[in-house]
Amino acid sequence: MNSVFSVAKLMFDKILIANRGEIACRIIHTAKRLGVGTVAVYSEADVNARHVNLADEAVAIGPAPARDSYLAAEKLIRAAERSGAEAIHPGYGFLSENAGFAEACGGAGITFIGPSPRAIESMGSKSAAKTIMQQAGIPLVPGYHGDNQEEAFFLGEAEKIGFPVMLKASAGGGGRGMRVVNSAAEFSEALRSAKREALGAFNDDRMLLEKYLEQPRHIEIQIFCDQQGNAVHLFERDCSIQRRHQKVLEEASAPGMTDETRSAMGDAAISAARAIDYTGAGTVEFIVNSDGAFYFMEMNTRLQVEHPVTEFITGLDLVEWQLRVAAGERLPASQDQLAINGHALEARIYAEDPDNGFLPSTGSLRHLRFPAETSNVRVDTGVREGDSISVHYDPLIAKLIVWGNDRGDCLRRALESLGRTQVVGVMTNIDFLVSVISHEAYRAADFDTGFIERHNVDLFPEKTPAPSDVLGLAALYHVLRRASLAAQKAASSADPTSPWWATDGWRPNLVEEERFSFHDGTGESKVCIIRAGRGNHAGAGRGTDLSPSPAENNSTPLLSSHNMPGQAPGYAADAYIIRAGGQLIYASGRLEADGSLTAIMDGTQRRADVVEDHDHLVIFEAGNTFRLKRLSGGGDSIDEEATGNLISPMPGTIIEVMAGEGQQVRKGDTLLVLEAMKIEHTIVAPRDGTVQAIHYRAGDMVEDGVELLVLTDK
Ligand code: ADP
Ligand code: ADP
Ligand code: MG
Repeated sequence: MNSVFSVAKLMFDKILIANRGEIACRIIHTAKRLGVGTVAVYSEADVNARHVNLADEAVAIGPAPARDSYLAAEKLIRAAERSGAEAIHPGYGFLSENAGFAEACGGAGITFIGPSPRAIESMGSKSAAKTIMQQAGIPLVPGYHGDNQEEAFFLGEAEKIGFPVMLKASAGGGGRGMRVVNSAAEFSEALRSAKREALGAFNDDRMLLEKYLEQPRHIEIQIFCDQQGNAVHLFERDCSIQRRHQKVLEEASAPGMTDETRSAMGDAAISAARAIDYTGAGTVEFIVNSDGAFYFMEMNTRLQVEHPVTEFITGLDLVEWQLRVAAGERLPASQDQLAINGHALEARIYAEDPDNGFLPSTGSLRHLRFPAETSNVRVDTGVREGDSISVHYDPLIAKLIVWGNDRGDCLRRALESLGRTQVVGVMTNIDFLVSVISHEAYRAADFDTGFIERHNVDLFPEKTPAPSDVLGLAALYHVLRRASLAAQKAASSADPTSPWWATDGWRPNLVEEERFSFHDGTGESKVCIIRAGRGNHAGAGRGTDLSPSPAENNSTPLLSSHNMPGQAPGYAADAYIIRAGGQLIYASGRLEADGSLTAIMDGTQRRADVVEDHDHLVIFEAGNTFRLKRLSGGGDSIDEEATGNLISPMPGTIIEVMAGEGQQVRKGDTLLVLEAMKIEHTIVAPRDGTVQAIHYRAGDMVEDGVELLVLTDK
């Protein structure tokens, strides 16, 4: 039946993405470009998630906990069958390295976009993988990876290898189940705790032992194999900047890598892949000693989180390659067609608190800005403003990937791009990433996996007080914000020009002054702002415009009256004198509705983005972020609507509601109890008053920052 005119059908018509977040979005992006239909899956927590919106179709797969949804293999296969998807892309994490799932896909006639179940299985145990690699002649770190798991035997092996040694869970991943042991005295306790962690995380407490290398680098090789037996490597990535054995920054190429070492590591990685008849994308991780010797560590049989740096330096789309290979096509390029161009860096932006052991931070992303994507800057994310980082999944907000002609160019652009990344609502590691990338030793490529620990003092600096001019910006923001609220009210009233709408307290011939008090995390600072004068004004919105227009003039006539394009003639900004930290600042400013503030302070133009977050002001200016808590202050409340309300401090579940609508309460009375992250939080009345409305009942889930109930004064 074979005809010369028959056209082999290779690429899939439709695939299902068995994942969520940025990697699901990433895969959908390539599928769309190739004209391949996409089916997303989503848990109850992800009904409105970005990956669901991007896909052509979406299938609900159950409750938020991953074991009931993204890890529920049979539901995913059923979803693929029902939607007619021919293949499943597992992304990374979840079921991506689950041989049983790959097997079940095959059993259902669905292509698993990844290697064979056997290849996954053989690399699934670090111990078994090492045995295979040893046989293939790949260098291993000295150690023990056999079946004998007795403590006395392990200790004997450790003494043979020589301390320090590293205990690792055979089934491990994500840096869990690992302990560095410095002496025989520590051994017993370290083994016990590593086993405990491994049992909890992987349901398997078998251990292996390795010589602990001092100051090594983590360098991994991206490999690709097709079903026809072709194999290439796509060079290396250096992932040495780690915290708790987890990657923070990844770059390609590896600084200082010689052509000889690169091709030796590339060859070893390809031999590793061939040893297990590998197909698709894989990563062979090596640990590299300061003398350049490299040792096999493990092989990840999936797409890696940091694959975009490889894409930037090779100009390739690895997800496209994965789809082509899984569909049966040959590798799109041979080794001699591949080359490195420039340098790329990935920074993982996490919702976490670097000052508190990098503990995940959950909450709603009430303000989210990324740098614009260009040919140098790529942002891979699964969230949008308003989405939540929940306790259920990985707290990754985005990956920022930057390309430059060389490493210096790349790092400079990375810092610039991080400076344009704004997140309010959860804590992030952005400032920490900036500290690492701007560190002299990192810039000089003088690093290894111990970098973060060694430069602890530089990377976690003591908090310094907010500069006076930033306090000045905060005061200016408050004054302009109130003026613009007044202008909005006036605009919607019958007589917009009535002086009664001038709620800013300004009266002719009076020196009016307003005081603010801010806490910047180090201490309290007082700021005083005085109106120094104003231009002619016409219509609503006065006090919110800048004069002179920044595009036209950079000098600062304090009291000038200057025509603004599109404004009534004679319109001008108010001028202020601000006293902050013993400094006097002459200022005027214009505030846009989106919080972007253009100010002229002592003749210098400043641009900041200001976001209100409960009682905090978050000021983003020139790549710096300042969080100021407003303690008290003269004058009116900035947001009158919000003052009567009680707000949920974190996402959680309402356990009990004690108050009733219409009930009179005394300051300190318990109104309701909220459970978040296994801890109960009692919400009490901040003052005497009447409960006017209660928005939730026991059992309801609430986001952080939402209004729980309304308390009125009488
Ligand atoms: P990689 O090895 O690709 O750089 P990591 O080492 O950071 O990834 O990830 C550690 C483990 O956690 C890996 O098994 C990875 O698949 C998994 N993981 C990372 N991010 C996520 C996520 N968003 N969802 C689920 N699993 C994840
Ligand atoms: P995981 O599966 O959690 O990614 P790996 O075996 O890949 O575990 O190791 C994670 C990290 O731990 C490595 O990137 C490296 O920084 C560190 N590490 C692993 N083995 C050693 C070793 N023998 N000596 C020193 N550091 C090691
Ligand atoms: Mg690893």
